[in-house]
Amino acid sequence: MQITVLAGGIGGSRFIRGLQRALEQDHPGSQITVIGNTGDDIWIHGLRVCPDLDTVMYTLGGGISAERGWGREDETFTVKDELAAYGVEPSWFGLGDRDIATHLIRTQSLRAGYTLTDVTAALCERWQPGVRLLPMSDDRAETHVVVDDPSGATAPDGAPLRTAIHFQEWWIRYRAELPAHEFILVGIDEARPGPDVLSTISEADLVILPPSNPVVSVGTILQVPGIAEAVRTTSAPVVGVSPIVGGAPVRGMADACLRTIGVETTAAAVAAHYGARSAEGVLDAWLMDTRDAEQVPAVEALGITTRAVPTMMTDIDATAALARECLSAGAVLARA
Ligand code: GDP
Ligand code: CA
Repeated sequence: MQITVLAGGIGGSRFIRGLQRALEQDHPGSQITVIGNTGDDIWIHGLRVCPDLDTVMYTLGGGISAERGWGREDETFTVKDELAAYGVEPSWFGLGDRDIATHLIRTQSLRAGYTLTDVTAALCERWQPGVRLLPMSDDRAETHVVVDDPSGATAPDGAPLRTAIHFQEWWIRYRAELPAHEFILVGIDEARPGPDVLSTISEADLVILPPSNPVVSVGTILQVPGIAEAVRTTSAPVVGVSPIVGGAPVRGMADACLRTIGVETTAAAVAAHYGARSAEGVLDAWLMDTRDAEQVPAVEALGITTRAVPTMMTDIDATAALARECLSAGAVLARA
């Protein structure tokens, strides 16, 4: 089987680890391609940082900090502390010493003219994540967030001035607590899907939207010109898993993202936002948590095959069981 997953960072990579386990046991020889979100990418102190690609690479390669869920295990932050001692901003980004080696190699290679796809493949030679990890695009397209100026600056009429800040500043520095008016994907209109991104969607046996952030992870990937169309038209079934359980994100601040785009924080509202493939959307099937079982009929009514299953990725076995639910939903759709 060829399976293509559109993934953000923590939720996406945890799911993929379970998917690998399920495939090893049930369908050995299967291949997973991960299309990674690069809308979170940022330049920090002259380094090109790709948080979601690195989270996938470290998680699947055994280098992730289990406690933090991002960055390296056994990490130290000496460089970050030294930069702060110089008073250099930004000081809010968690740049670890081990992690910096990855960013140095990436930055040097990009400057030498390699594409992000090439550089990611080269970094993965060390980590052996067991998947093909493809950036959604080799072009720069970063998520910015329109907020009221955090300094409190106002226009002559007293109205708050608006400013756009990088997604990471909104997410990490302000913990998504600054009300966001809008997300702007700077450069998205000119961004092209990375090499093989479209073909790995159209030639897959199954496409999965894992429990990643539906706005700033999966939503960003789907906005790269051509990618949503490839998902809509692939002959493979498309199965999604809800990142929203019991009306709240399991982890992180996806509710603040959903609020910004006017979508309720419920599993059913996220499914409606993605939409049925039979109605210009991207989903054939939607798996949401057993706690949200009462929402199944509402999602079914949209033309999306819906099941309530345990979706909490508490350990590898629970996650593999969730992945098996995706595989069986896909198999049922493929037979139909
Ligand atoms: P990020 O880029 O690191 O923010 O990670 P992703 O975009 O891949 O995933 C974030 C989403 O994963 C959040 O909205 C969480 O609610 C969701 N998530 C995390 N853990 C779980 C889990 O165990 N079960 C479910 N259903 N969703 C989860
Ligand atoms: Ca992310």
